[in-house]
Amino acid sequence: MTGETIGSIATALVVGGGIGGMASAISLAERGVAVELIDLDPDWRVYGAGITITGPTLRAYRRLGMLEAIKAEGAITSKTRLFRYDGTHLHDLEEPVIEEGLPATGGIMRPILHRIMQARVRELGIPVRLGLTVTALDQPAGGAVEARFSDGTAGRFDLVVGADSVYSGVRELAFPHMAAAVPTGQGCWRISIRKPPGLEMGEFYLGHANPCGITACGPDAVYMWMLTPHVERESHMDEEELFVTLKALLADFGGNAGWIRDNMTRQDWINYRPLAAALQPKPWFAGRVVLLGDAVHATTPHLASGAGMAVESGIVLAEELARAATVDEALLAYQERRFDRCRDVIETSVAVGRLQLEHGDPRVHAQMLEGALSRLNQAF
Ligand SMILES: Cc1cc2nc3c(=O)[nH]c(=O)nc-3n(C[C@H](O)[C@H](O)[C@H](O)COP(=O)(O)OP(=O)(O)OC[C@H]3O[C@@H](n4cnc5c(N)ncnc54)[C@H](O)[C@@H]3O)c2cc1C
Repeated sequence: MTGETIGSIATALVVGGGIGGMASAISLAERGVAVELIDLDPDWRVYGAGITITGPTLRAYRRLGMLEAIKAEGAITSKTRLFRYDGTHLHDLEEPVIEEGLPATGGIMRPILHRIMQARVRELGIPVRLGLTVTALDQPAGGAVEARFSDGTAGRFDLVVGADSVYSGVRELAFPHMAAAVPTGQGCWRISIRKPPGLEMGEFYLGHANPCGITACGPDAVYMWMLTPHVERESHMDEEELFVTLKALLADFGGNAGWIRDNMTRQDWINYRPLAAALQPKPWFAGRVVLLGDAVHATTPHLASGAGMAVESGIVLAEELARAATVDEALLAYQERRFDRCRDVIETSVAVGRLQLEHGDPRVHAQMLEGALSRLNQAF
C-alpha cells in the first residue's frame, strides 16, 4: 500500500482484468483513483496452466503486497537446473536474490494467482463488470474519454487503460499506428501435472530441437513447457491428439521430463499455443488512453517475464501519474521508463527462439537467458 495520491486523475477505466489490468487497477485504486474494471470473459477465468515467477516478477508482486500469498500458495525455488535433454546435468543457473527477503524464483498455478489478484481488487472495492468490452473511445476537448460499452451503456473517465492483451480491442480503436503481434514460428506446449518425486527446483532441458522445462507451482504441482516449430493447420487439436502428440514429442527426454512422459494421464491439463510477439511503436498513449501488458509489449515465454513486465507496467503507470505535474508528462514518463526494458525482454526472447529454430548452440542460448535475466534484476 502506498501513501501517494494522484491528483490529476479522479476516474479510470481499465479494460481487461488479466495480470496487467488487475495490477494497474490495484495500483491506481491504492492511490485514490475511482477505478472501474471490465473484462470480456463473463466468468473472469484464466486457463489451468502454471506460470513461472522470476525474481523481478516476485519483486513487482511484493510492491502490490502479494508476495506472502504467492509464497504460501505457489512454490518458491532458489535455482534453475540445466540438463541435456537426456537428463545429464549441465549446470545451475545462478539466480541471485535481488532484494533482501525476496525469493530468487518460483511458480504458481495461474488460477490461484488470478484469485489472489481478484481478492485484492474486491478488497479495494473496485467495481468489476464482466462479459463486455469497449466499442468506441471518444476524446472531446477537455481531457476526458467517453467510452461506449458493448452492452449499450456509456461512461466518462479521466483515463482509459487498455490491458486487453495481445489482440487488444483498445489498441485497434485508438492506436492506428500499431499492428498485430508477429508469429515467431514456434509454439508452446504446456502440461499441468503432479510433481515428479525427484524435482527440487526449476529445470530446463536443452540441446534438443524441442527444448522444455519444468516449474514447481505448489507442494505437489508442476507445469512443464516445451517449445516446438509451429506448423499451421486448419483445425485445433482435440484433447486426445494433444495428449498423444506431447507424449511422442517427449520420447527422447530423460530426467524428470522423461518421468512426466511416462506418468502423464488424460486428466492432466494440456495446451498448445502458437507464439507471437510485438514491441509496439511509440507513442503508447493517445490523449488519455494508454496501453500496457501484452497489448503493447507482447513477448514469448523464453524469459518467463511477460507477466512480470505487465505487473511492472501497472505499477509504473500509477507511480508516474502520482509524480508528474500533468497527465501528458506522466504518460510520457511511463512510456520512457517501460520501453527499453520491455524491448530487451522481447528482443532477447525472440532471438533465443530463432536460435532454437536454427538448432543453435545451447550454451549460447543459456548465456543469452542469463544475460537478460541479470539485466532484469536492475530496478524497474
Ligand atoms: C505460452 C505462454 C507461456 C507464458 N508463460 C509465462 C511465464 O511463465 N511467466 C511470465 O511471466 N509470463 C508468461 N507468459 C506471458 C504472460 O502470460 C503475459 O505476458 C501476461 O499474461 C500479460 O498480461 P496482460 O494483462 O497483458 O494479458 P492477460 O493476462 O492475457 O489478460 C488480458 C485480459 O483481457 C481480457 N480481454 C481480452 N480482450 C478483451 C477485450 N476486447 N475487452 C475486454 N477485455 C478483454 C481477457 O479476458 C483477459 O482477462 C506466457 C505467455 C504464453 C503465451
